[in-house]
Amino acid sequence: MPVEITMPQLSDTMTDGTLVKWLKKEGEAVKAGDEIAEVETDKATMPYEAPEAGILAHLAIQAGAKVPVGALIAVIASKNEDAAAVKKQFAAGGGAAGAKPQAAPAPAAPVKPAPAPTAAAPSKPAAPASAPAPSPKPASTGNYNFDIIVIGGGPAGYAAAIRAAQLNQRVLCIEKENLGGTCLNWGCIPTKALLEDGAFIRHLKNGAADHGVIVGDVKIDFAKIIGRSRTIAGKLAKGIGSLFHKYKVKHELGMGQLVAAHKVKVTSADKTTKEYTAEHILIAVGAKPTELPFAKFDYKTIVTSREAMTLPVQPKKMAIIGAGAIGCEFADFYNAIGTEVTIVEMLPHLLPNEDEDVSILLKRLFERRGIKSFTKTKTDKIEKTASGVKLTLSGENPGEIEADVVLVAVGVVANTEGLGAAESKLELDRGRVKVDPEYHTNLENVWAIGDCIAMHWPAEMGMAGYRHPDLAHVAHHEAVHVVEHIVGMHTHGIDYKNIPCTYTHPQVASLGSTEKKLREQGREIRIGKFPFSASGRALAAGEPDGFVKLIFDAKYGELLGAHMIGENVTEMLAELVLAKKLEATEAEIIDAMHPHPTMSEAIMESAGVADGRAIHL
Ligand SMILES: Cc1cc2nc3c(=O)[nH]c(=O)nc-3n(C[C@H](O)[C@H](O)[C@H](O)COP(=O)(O)OP(=O)(O)OC[C@H]3O[C@@H](n4cnc5c(N)ncnc54)[C@H](O)[C@@H]3O)c2cc1C
Repeated sequence: MPVEITMPQLSDTMTDGTLVKWLKKEGEAVKAGDEIAEVETDKATMPYEAPEAGILAHLAIQAGAKVPVGALIAVIASKNEDAAAVKKQFAAGGGAAGAKPQAAPAPAAPVKPAPAPTAAAPSKPAAPASAPAPSPKPASTGNYNFDIIVIGGGPAGYAAAIRAAQLNQRVLCIEKENLGGTCLNWGCIPTKALLEDGAFIRHLKNGAADHGVIVGDVKIDFAKIIGRSRTIAGKLAKGIGSLFHKYKVKHELGMGQLVAAHKVKVTSADKTTKEYTAEHILIAVGAKPTELPFAKFDYKTIVTSREAMTLPVQPKKMAIIGAGAIGCEFADFYNAIGTEVTIVEMLPHLLPNEDEDVSILLKRLFERRGIKSFTKTKTDKIEKTASGVKLTLSGENPGEIEADVVLVAVGVVANTEGLGAAESKLELDRGRVKVDPEYHTNLENVWAIGDCIAMHWPAEMGMAGYRHPDLAHVAHHEAVHVVEHIVGMHTHGIDYKNIPCTYTHPQVASLGSTEKKLREQGREIRIGKFPFSASGRALAAGEPDGFVKLIFDAKYGELLGAHMIGENVTEMLAELVLAKKLEATEAEIIDAMHPHPTMSEAIMESAGVADGRAIHL
């Protein structure tokens, strides 16, 4: 089916745009993502990328023409179509019956168009007024207990269940533990509670005198710190139960198992079983910490993040294997409360996925606070000792270290054990549920989202080298996306190249590509970096460490990456997420008046540095 490409609407105010020049000729073969034209909008001149591969069969307008938003500008014929016939058909002004509209309205970020759902979902009354109504669906083909059964009640599962119920689907959510999943019970939220306490204690211990506060001996009530974190987690998990009640999501406490497409078995703690059927089944079973092959978890001295956030006694010495976000967060917290912490990381940097400038500064700041970090160092052996554990290391820091407890934070494996994958013939990829970019598994109407998936992007999407990011906000967006897709709504695409991620004190926040990656790709870039030591607000807060680093496309000024380290940068990132989504340019970020004095002025100034217009540097 030919793909019609129309003038995109890039802002609420844009009504027309100019096709500045064609970058490909009529009749030329294009790959998805190839720049085919330059389009001038009310914001900037932007490259327009082909949403799909094929032959550029028909250029409907000349270079220089200004056309309204939505007007046809080109047509791509798919590989097995006759490009000449497609051109003839469109040149005659008729268009094609059933031609596919273009995939993405925005030219710079091609998103695969959502294929039609593979089977009918039951027609339902209209959605709440605030949500776009689902498009009409053919009547259900089966007589099922539910429209959607969700297995797993974490950020992927509970968000999917709630969104589906909002869209008038009959939903069952099966969860074997507390609602809220890892994020609310054992991840994002309880760790942030601990980190806040750690920051508070660090301020009292080290910073109070600078602020004219004389504090005596700071004593720590470890049990109370752990207790506060658990209370917050419990409260939030209960909140999901209330939301289920509000939206009439049915909830089963038990282990969900896929029997076949459309059929699920639930086994409760007392071993009683029930079977349910549904038009669609959504797998959202999440993941659990990876175990080292040579050191099984004993959950007392060799522990996962779960035990690390509920230890009965504060360890004097802690070793942490893995310097990703989880390892660094625990290092930060335990250091703040006075535990001697050593991080061991095989890769050259802490937070190895972050921009190198950020990782290098974090290591320096951690070391200044007394956190030892051994990078390019491998843990070969963990032995139990009378007082805890002994680690044998090789690489850049060979030798042995002893600790009361070692936290292993080297990644996660999907919770697919006991899910019934073999019995139901659900295809897995190294233990994860294999899905396409619309979260469809190999089974009819069985979908999967969140930490448990292995995403297989088709080659033309240019995602080689990317892997699925296991983060709560990703799980949440996938949930909304897949449910809206199932009910036939137009979905918002997820751009996996621009996933924001955050964490630690000083906090780290980023989105998009790192400088290293962009240079490896040969992109021409402009970088602006603004240190918080030049920010009045940061100095007033006593937080001069860190910087904002923004990376722009040298030609078009498009924001390609944002990398920040410093106080509260996780909150600042939202501005840049929106800027990226709205394709704001460097000039627009500079021209947007930022309130003074705020840390966020560093974003404006950083764009100014890239553009040679910074005032305070
Ligand atoms: C220490 C830590 C800190 C983190 N901090 C952050 C952070 O700050 N920000 C962030 O974005 N992400 C963070 N994460 C990651 C985040 O928690 C996950 O990405 C997120 O929870 C994934 O959501 P999910 O729904 O896919 O999986 P989960 O949250 O793991 O939920 C899956 C649920 O499915 C249930 N389940 C599994 N199998 C079955 C079955 N067969 N039947 C029934 N139920 C089943 C599980 O009990 C679980 O409740 C952190 C993770 C950890 C461990």
